[in-house]
Amino acid sequence: MSKADKISEAELIARWVRPQIRALNAYHVPPAKGFIKLDAMENPYTWPESTVDAWLDVLRGADLNRYPDASAHALTTRMRKAMDVPDGVELLLGNGSDELIQMILLAVAGPGRKALFPTPTFSMYHIIAQYAGVECVGVPLRADDFGLDVAAFLRAIDEHAPAVIFLAYPNNPTGNLFDRNAIDAIIARAPGMVVLDEAYHAFAGDSFVGDVVRYNNLVVLRTLSKMGLAGLRVGVALGKPAWLHELNKLRLPYNINVLSQLSAEFALGHQTMLDTQTAHICRDREQLIEQLRALSSVTPYPSQANFVLFRVASGRADEIFAGLKARRVLIKNLHGSHPQLADCLRVTVGTPDENQAFLEALKAVLAGK
Ligand SMILES: *Cc1c(COP(=O)(O)O)cnc(C)c1O
Repeated sequence: MSKADKISEAELIARWVRPQIRALNAYHVPPAKGFIKLDAMENPYTWPESTVDAWLDVLRGADLNRYPDASAHALTTRMRKAMDVPDGVELLLGNGSDELIQMILLAVAGPGRKALFPTPTFSMYHIIAQYAGVECVGVPLRADDFGLDVAAFLRAIDEHAPAVIFLAYPNNPTGNLFDRNAIDAIIARAPGMVVLDEAYHAFAGDSFVGDVVRYNNLVVLRTLSKMGLAGLRVGVALGKPAWLHELNKLRLPYNINVLSQLSAEFALGHQTMLDTQTAHICRDREQLIEQLRALSSVTPYPSQANFVLFRVASGRADEIFAGLKARRVLIKNLHGSHPQLADCLRVTVGTPDENQAFLEALKAVLAGK
């Protein structure tokens, strides 16, 4: 019997696992089999059969017995072109942009180090900061339109001297683009890195990629997840070489597997197909917002992303969420997650049929049927 066998697991864990980790909950993903899945900002469209065949031909040539290209040269080159990356800006790939957020926070972590972001925003900034050992400071967005409270944000920068600031552009879960001048003021005032997270860039029509060269402290994140390739887990950081050189040291070797590299490169070679899907999603988003607005007890917020945040009558969000779930429609319940999101739900834009099914289910639930 080993020494550890004489002690209960619980005691061993209490002794050895860091308190910050024990205090965390693992990221929860609800089961979605059999649901109309409108909870995770996935692109609902698949590829034509001929495109799938061409993709499978590419995969047939994959050397599964070899480690992938550690620098993902072919994919990086394709991305640079697809994203119109200016000279002087480099790319660093992550296993999803989540991994890049992790590299950034691990790079700056330490006693007294802080991350600043508006709230409500993407939950991973806070979750990763907790285990990386970075203290979080949240600055509430304006209550009426979820815009940045610039004065409060600049004050928080001066007070906390954050090592890193995260701004999701557009913001998740609110769907809006922050004011450009406000972001410029924040970057100019920040003592450390500012991360512009452009996960929803494809639906937004604005970007800070062209601004990276203007600043010494700006990094832009993009991902293929929201443009139809969530299953691949490919994200990218764009920044000046010196910053990315440091972040690259925190990247596990071969973080982008060979199937993801080949598949992403193939998909980016079919830009028109992806752009058409995005255009459909943007068109259907506007229709969905209009249809939600027509419901008397529902207030949808404007969106520059592939989802819509909406508010329902006070105290009814949980019941509406459950009612939709009972009708096999899965969206995201944000009620209780942040004071600003009381009575709020978030729905991803699906196919026209899925959006219609969601609306019909919502109407039935609202009518108490
Ligand atoms: C979905 C999302 C991400 C995560 O993207 P992955 O590349 O899939 O890890 C990052 N930032 C924001 C704001 C998101 O909504």
